[in-house]
Parts: sequence; C-alpha cells; structure tokens
Amino acid sequence: MSNALVVLGATGSIGTQTLEVADKLGFEVAVLAARRPSPQLAELALRYPDAEVVVAGGSTDERSQLAVEIGRKPGYGPDAVIEAAAVRNRLVVNGIVGAAGLRATVAALRAGNRVALANKESLVAGGPVVKAALEAGGELLPVDSEHSALHQCLAGEPPESVARLILTASGGPFRGRSRESLANVTPEEALRHPTWDMGPRISIDSATMFNKGFEIVEAHHLFDVGYDHIDVLVHPQSILHSAVEFVDGSWKGHMGHPDMRVPIQYALTAPERAANPGSWFDPVGMELSFEAPDHEVFPAIGIAYEAGRAGGSSPAVMNAADEMAVEAFLQGRLGFLGISDVVARALETVDWRELKTVDDVVAVDAEARSVAAGLIAGVC
Ligand code: MG
Repeated sequence: MSNALVVLGATGSIGTQTLEVADKLGFEVAVLAARRPSPQLAELALRYPDAEVVVAGGSTDERSQLAVEIGRKPGYGPDAVIEAAAVRNRLVVNGIVGAAGLRATVAALRAGNRVALANKESLVAGGPVVKAALEAGGELLPVDSEHSALHQCLAGEPPESVARLILTASGGPFRGRSRESLANVTPEEALRHPTWDMGPRISIDSATMFNKGFEIVEAHHLFDVGYDHIDVLVHPQSILHSAVEFVDGSWKGHMGHPDMRVPIQYALTAPERAANPGSWFDPVGMELSFEAPDHEVFPAIGIAYEAGRAGGSSPAVMNAADEMAVEAFLQGRLGFLGISDVVARALETVDWRELKTVDDVVAVDAEARSVAAGLIAGVC
C-alpha cells in the first residue's frame, strides 16, 4: 500500500495529529491541503518542503503572501483539493470539516485510494453516494475512535455472528442534567468536554449528543449493520471506545486512552499495527461505569435513528440543520435546546428524496441550510 499521504485539513486537529503520526511512521507527506492560507499552513509547508501545498480558498493577496513565505506556489481552489485526493496510489486523510469533504472522499475512492476518514459529512450526508463510490475499489478506514474500535472488533468476524454494535458515548458536559437546567447554558459551558479535546462544532455536537447520532448513521454505512442492531451506551470515562456483541452473547470491546493518534495511526497502517504513539494504558485503579442515554434530555439520538431509518436525504438534512443551529448557538442567536428543535423541524420541512450524486447531496444541504436559517430567525 502507498504511504504517500494527502492530508486534507492539514492545519486542523486531525491534520496536525496525522502529521505527528506520519513522522513517527516515516510516511511521505505528498500534499498539505487547507481551507485557506494561514501562519500554521506556512509553518507546515516549510517543515515538509517536498509537499505540494493546496488551499481551497483565500484572497489573491493571502495566496501570494503564502507563496513568498513558503517559496513555492500553492495550488488553489476546491477542485485542486479534489484533484490531489484523486491521484492514484495515495493514502488520503480526510480531515476536512464540512460538506466540502464529501467530494474529496468520493474522488479518492474512485481513484482506488484508501481514505482515512475523519470528515463526518461524507457518510452522514453522503452515505449512499460514498457507498456507490466504494464499489470502484477504494477503501474506507474510519478515524473516529468509536468506528475504529468497531472496525477492529469486527475484523475476521463473519457478519452473521454480529448481534449488535455498541457505540459508547461520554455523555458530554451535560450528562446527568435535567432538560430544564439546559435552557440557559452558555456556549462556554457547552464547549467544555470532559474527556476529549476537540473543535467547537464537534464539542457542541457532543453536548447535544448529535455527534453520537451522526456516528450511528456512519456505523450503519461503514459496517452494513441495520439501525435495529446499533445501540448507544453512555460511558463517561471514554476508555471503552465501543464494542460488538456477538450472537453467542460474547462482547469484544476496544479499550485505551482517549488519544486520537491511536485510531489515526491504525487507519494508516491497518491491518498492521505500528508502535504506540502515546503512553501505555494502565487500568489499575480505574473505575468504568455505563448507563443508558437519557432520551428526554438528549432528543438528538432519537432524531438520528429516525433520520437514518428514513435514509435518502434525511441524514443530510439533519447534518446541515445541525451545523446551522450550532453556529447560531455559538453566536448567541439560539438557545441550547433550540438546536434539536431546529433539526427536528428541518427534517419535517424539507421534502425527502433519494441521493444519487454528490450534486444531489449539495442541493439538499443548501436547501436544509436555508430552511434551518428561517427556523432560527423565527425563534429569535
Ligand atoms: Mg467519536
């Protein structure tokens, strides 16, 4: 397998941790792609002088300044990012945040590449399209800790021996709270995640548990398991990263530190394992606890099951409406409880349709965003 890495979203949390892992493994960094020019990107470009640098956006001035700083001309535009992912024999790490990541995933898979996937939108919004692209021969390896855990537990097991997938959830900063007590929480409170250090959208999605909802949909597509056989288990310590229950009643779970470098590394080397990128795990003295999710306080999980079962455009609507609602919440334009209300109402409002192409996904994404914007404005 190729070890020429294309790092999409190179300056983000997944991108920087990928580069750390890649350095340890001695992988070649072929492409560094980012949303726009930035001091961090310039620094990376200097650290990897042989890597092609690509930016999806940014002004002409910003791009020429970057070119001067790094001593080479960056590729430019969303198409340049997609082209970089579509060069054969590359290992594409997709850490793009947002719907732009879907095109890159599809292009990389069609080229027969392995995609280490950290972009949620690819499978949540574009599940049917990504599944079709996979038939071209590419390979999809999850970077998310839960799905990496499930992938590892399922390895070598025949599908008919699987009873259910158990996705663990930390429960976020509001675990154990009542619904009323969440009416006036601030973005600062919601951003404080107990066990994982993540970007703002995913932190809010953890607080509402929409993140787990998206992971249910992703697990369905990644492992071809029906929604009736996927469950969520709250586990505040984030040590059991997920588990599989088999028909004989056995469980296989994946445990370790909450350290994203481990699933990132596994996505690059699977099925082989490389040396531990972090510290050794020692469970002595640890107490692990498990509880059922509170569906009244966290309606997101139920909404996600419904959207997932409806299939077609519904998960894409859920994703787009959630992104709009989270942004509005972070800007103080929407209350915390309003996030799931906006998503549920957007799902009722946007007409269901089948998704066959990336353009279908883009169209439904745009429509859901405009519907969600209207709902949010109506609340204010
Ligand atoms: Mg996760």
